[in-house]
Amino acid sequence: MMPASQNERSKSTLERAAAAFVQWFDADHTAGAPEKMRAEPDRVDWMRCIPFIILHAGCLGVIWVGWSPCAAWTAVALYFVRMFAVTGIYHRYFSHKTYSTSRVGQFLLALWGATTVQRGALWWAYHHRHHHQHSDDPEDAHSPHVHGFWWSHIGWITSRRNVPTDYSKVKDLTKFPELVWLNRFDTVIPFLVAFAIFGLGLLLERVAPGLNTNGPQLLVWGFFISTTLLFHGTSCINSMAHLMGRRRFDTGDDSRNSFILALICLGEGWHNNHHRYMSCTRQGFYWWEIDPTYYGLKALSYTGLIWDLKPVPKSILDEAARADHRATIAAAELAAQLHPDVSPLKRVFPTAAAIAVATATASQATLPKKAEGPGIHRNVSAQTHDLAPPPQG
Ligand SMILES: [Zn+2]
Ligand SMILES: [Zn+2]
Repeated sequence: MMPASQNERSKSTLERAAAAFVQWFDADHTAGAPEKMRAEPDRVDWMRCIPFIILHAGCLGVIWVGWSPCAAWTAVALYFVRMFAVTGIYHRYFSHKTYSTSRVGQFLLALWGATTVQRGALWWAYHHRHHHQHSDDPEDAHSPHVHGFWWSHIGWITSRRNVPTDYSKVKDLTKFPELVWLNRFDTVIPFLVAFAIFGLGLLLERVAPGLNTNGPQLLVWGFFISTTLLFHGTSCINSMAHLMGRRRFDTGDDSRNSFILALICLGEGWHNNHHRYMSCTRQGFYWWEIDPTYYGLKALSYTGLIWDLKPVPKSILDEAARADHRATIAAAELAAQLHPDVSPLKRVFPTAAAIAVATATASQATLPKKAEGPGIHRNVSAQTHDLAPPPQG
């Protein structure tokens, strides 16, 4: 006969597995209080992971369905259209409220965001705000420095403690029942997207046979492959953006600026900029810091769907200029130390440039430290604002 403690253990394992199954369809269902679940140690919840594993396994369908230029381009297009939803909507709107919209506009943005298969806007915003408040400290759910590369990239999302949304941390969003509903039933829109892609493939097979595509092929490329790549592209910001690139600002964490990540994630690679000041719409602070999400949002603002895009404050730009000048001078000094045999004439241009820039900004260097302070420990919810009507005229 099974000992009582063992009996209880297997009962609670069964309960947890049953709860994880129900969570596939109702993300707010938990076995016990969600606070208790969030307090558990990190561990993989395999039952909860099955849809995530199916998403990856679905890519192998390419062995049977083959490929066509139409299917491959559909995957590329859906990657970028939905990467924009992750960066421009889930991140720059729901997490940081860096621009305004109407209630209808907000709902449309949430629907667009839900097509990314990265759960609901409230879950996404809660975890992201938590990341900014605890960046690279032990509380951070996905720090590569605390938990290692693979945990920060993919492991954290499989952990039971990270499944529930802490609605108390996104009170500015829980005011809207339509957003809470989309967050709770977060598989509805992804299912509809998958069906729509499959249906489009069937339609194209009939009306445009020259494209050589069909329902199953378009489903594998447009949904499974595109969504899996989208997940890993987004995850690069959690893992790589705290490991790879240059640090302009001393933000108290290890966030970095990376051109390569900015290309993969439509401008989110300027992560150190963002950790320094998260309340502005753009993350590339200069024209050469390419930020396609910002260009897209700017274009969207001309349609009237969104407005009031927040600029980078002058104080932050001044601080960036001072940091860049210090880095230029340090690099010139290091070059002189490493290559003392190089003709001084060959060093004259970078040295002269560094001195000229430092001289031109000498007055800025004496300015007192700006009042904003490091952006990372701010309470983002407190900074957000209510929906405002569009400006007249
Ligand atoms: Zn970060
Ligand atoms: Zn952020």
